Amino acid sequence: MSARLPLHLATDPAREPGSGLGTPSVSRQTSALVDSFGRHHNNLRVSVTDRCNLRCTYCMPEDVVFRDRSELLTFEEITHFVRVAASLGVDKVRLTGGEPLVRKDLHKLARMLVAIPGIRDVGLTTNGILLADQAAELFAAGLRRLNVSLDTLDEGRFHELTRRDGLARVLAGLAAAKSAGFGPIKVNAVAIRGFAEVDAVPLARFCRDQGFELRFIEYMPIGADPWERERVFPAEELLDLLGREVAPLTLAPDHDPRAPALEYVYDDRRGQVGVIASVTRPFCHSCNRLRLTADGKIRNCLFALDETDVKPLLRTTHPNTAAIAATIRRTIWAKWEGHEINSARFVKPDRTMHAIGG
Ligand code: SAM
Ligand code: SF4
Repeated sequence: MSARLPLHLATDPAREPGSGLGTPSVSRQTSALVDSFGRHHNNLRVSVTDRCNLRCTYCMPEDVVFRDRSELLTFEEITHFVRVAASLGVDKVRLTGGEPLVRKDLHKLARMLVAIPGIRDVGLTTNGILLADQAAELFAAGLRRLNVSLDTLDEGRFHELTRRDGLARVLAGLAAAKSAGFGPIKVNAVAIRGFAEVDAVPLARFCRDQGFELRFIEYMPIGADPWERERVFPAEELLDLLGREVAPLTLAPDHDPRAPALEYVYDDRRGQVGVIASVTRPFCHSCNRLRLTADGKIRNCLFALDETDVKPLLRTTHPNTAAIAATIRRTIWAKWEGHEINSARFVKPDRTMHAIGG
């Protein structure tokens, strides 16, 4: 058992909801996904592939070996899982990867998920390379919320970070998403020292002009590169920089203190900026997320060292809904208190970000 599991898990199985009570019901009222710290989980991130058309240095190794496609969950298997999760109170789904748009016909999956009773929000996180081609069909499928990852507006630094060319395609993708009607459109940038000092201000100005919300994510130890704390560009420094160089910023009045992103609005009302300070201000105490990897593993934390294989329960002629629900609940119950990036106990998971689903 991992050293970071909550201690009472090992010693008090009676605390687990449903233990000893037979097969758990999957009715929404009785089966909320609560962990042993009382955190409710309603937010599911579904990775649809570990493949990607970029090779971001902070996310994956250059010489990555991808899984065989036969190992990936089918759209029907993913939909079945989400239907069960929805019966347990999950109402928010985000499609991610790897790069989700390299998965053929992703819009068909989006349409299937949007139609699930109880699911009120399906979003997508993409690197934007294939977005111009797919924006219209994704919008028609019912997707509305979009996060497009873009760290720099400079072609040279884009190549340095992603090991590929493609800035113009990402910008075309953003433009296509805007004309298709997506909203909100958020631009995700990883805050890395050595890049953010140069790129944050032009990115912020671009997003203000285009009506996109910029979101910085502190660089986390989940990629292939050896991570060093000194390379994290802290949220506080970033906000100082933008407040000085772009326009003064104030914490948004409707800011939700439990949300991972701290939301700031420009004092001149021309847009807002979010910062996800996973390293300098972890939000584990209010985490409501679970993850399904492309190969069918449930993870209760991005940094989890254990995961639960749900594919055998989904890949049968008659998937056992009660067993899937019980597996999801058990996995959530076993969630640890937090990721411990800031402690000596931190252990980096075996999988890198692209294989988990960011
Ligand atoms: N390929 C898509 C994309 O890039 O948007 C979706 C998957 S990607 C893994 C999801 C998000 O994770 C992206 O916004 C990416 O910038 C972020 N990410 C990847 N590695 C990271 C790291 N080491 N620290 C912080 N964010 C990271
Ligand atoms: Fe691909 Fe996204 Fe990872 Fe970059 S961050 S390598 S685009 S999965």
